[in-house]
Amino acid sequence: MSQPRQHFASDNYAGMCPEAARWFMEADACGHQPAYGDDIWTQRVSDELRALFQTDCDVYFVFNGTAANSLALASMCQSYHSVICTPQAHIDTDECGGPEFFSNGSKLLTTDPLTPAAQLAKLTPDEVERLVTRRNDIHYPKPKVVSITQATELGTVYTVEEVRAIAAIAKRRQLKVHMDGARFANAVAHLGCHPSEITWRAGVDVLCFGGTKNGIPVGEAVVFFDRALSEDFAYRVKQAGQLASKMRFISAPWVGMLEKDTWLRNGRHANAMAQRLYQGIKDVPGVRVMHPPEANAVFAFLPPQAIKTLQNDKGWRFYDFIAGGGCRLMCAWDTRPESVDAFVADIAATCTAL
Ligand SMILES: *Cc1c(COP(=O)(O)O)cnc(C)c1O
Repeated sequence: MSQPRQHFASDNYAGMCPEAARWFMEADACGHQPAYGDDIWTQRVSDELRALFQTDCDVYFVFNGTAANSLALASMCQSYHSVICTPQAHIDTDECGGPEFFSNGSKLLTTDPLTPAAQLAKLTPDEVERLVTRRNDIHYPKPKVVSITQATELGTVYTVEEVRAIAAIAKRRQLKVHMDGARFANAVAHLGCHPSEITWRAGVDVLCFGGTKNGIPVGEAVVFFDRALSEDFAYRVKQAGQLASKMRFISAPWVGMLEKDTWLRNGRHANAMAQRLYQGIKDVPGVRVMHPPEANAVFAFLPPQAIKTLQNDKGWRFYDFIAGGGCRLMCAWDTRPESVDAFVADIAATCTAL
């Protein structure tokens, strides 16, 4: 039997990985369990996440990344505060004002889009410093949080040194550090470091640890390394409609992800598929890859006519509106090498025929 067609639009096109599915079913097989997170699975996975990060962090589970980011930022800000992020930040461009809404108006301050770092969707200590010191009068929303996305919206990855340097400025300026880790697994897989090294040991206060794009059916973990920030967080989650009554079905799949480092293996696989795709298309005439991939996405400019043919005639799905007209070609935990090869062959044939 032939395998179902795969696409390169988003890693959330992929389903759940067998390890997550297995523990999802285990959570069902254990019969009645207390609701709202008092079940054995949520307790167990929270402990396992503390063991993974080697620290006594507070852990919460929500349905999606928008809620994770919005509620985490709301817990770090008053309404008159501001959050420093890049122009590409998901919190600014793709959350429909969720962070502003849940914080009752905290403003997002985006960095200069024209710096070399910004072209790679990265913040720099200099840009943080510039935004913090630009104004200090009462009329300006007081910077309170720096938010970095790891891996970034452009498939790049902050090094441990880069995160440390940003966090050092943040600390000096009394800002908290938030990490949008929708693709945290891909970042750690790329860096080969311990997950603690790129988070709390580098100065990160709160991590939104993505599960969905890494092979979980639904759900993200919000991990508070600075436990003072999680005060009353449970109430925020409930008020926002993010408290799952059968929470075990969100938490139990994480057992499968953490067991034998499935989350990292999934991240590594998706990254490797992006490398394969990059190698396959980088020298195709008419294709201009924006930068070598570090995580699980390749960003490239393709001729407009080729995009049309690939999407409409060849049936490939991928986004072509991200990053100023570039195409985002995203690999997932389950992307097969043959799918990459078929996509590469169609891109090459289409571009060559123009
Ligand atoms: C996907 C994604 C999220 C979460 O999005 P949801 O659709 O709300 O789950 C957050 N940040 C980044 C960078 C993402 O790519």
